[in-house]
Amino acid sequence: MRRDELVRADHASRKKHSSGEIERALKRKLPKLVTDDDLRGILHCHTDASDGTETLETMAKARRDRGFEYFGVADHSKSAHYAGGLSVEQIEHPEADRLNKKSGKDFRILKGIESDILADGSLDYPEDVLATFDFVVASIHGRFKMDRVAQTDRLLRGDR
Ligand SMILES: [Zn+2]
Repeated sequence: MRRDELVRADHASRKKHSSGEIERALKRKLPKLVTDDDLRGILHCHTDASDGTETLETMAKARRDRGFEYFGVADHSKSAHYAGGLSVEQIEHPEADRLNKKSGKDFRILKGIESDILADGSLDYPEDVLATFDFVVASIHGRFKMDRVAQTDRLLRGDR
């Protein structure tokens, strides 16, 4: 296929799968898009407690200085040993609580974890530990070769 044919095929495909945004963009009638200024915080961040490079305090301060209202830490859980995953004892709630106490009402560290979905669909911390977090990111980091049905089942059980 020649380049102009490829471009035409691409446009046709995009048009087929769009819900009118291509036409609205051509008429400059798209709604206002989200910009950096609209962001109030971020989630799913890794500190040096697992495989990040900065401390919770440094990262939270950088987000606060940027004008964000919250910073959601979500270090790796214990199964991600290759990424410095945290044992239950290493979970940084005391540090987050200390920093939250210091920072007042206009900024908050949200206490999260990136918990591995195990092969049977369970998460790798017990329920009572998971309940101590403000949010949980459930992730699959291994056993990628399970068959399609078992893998989907695993994912659905992990995402409850
Ligand atoms: Zn992650």
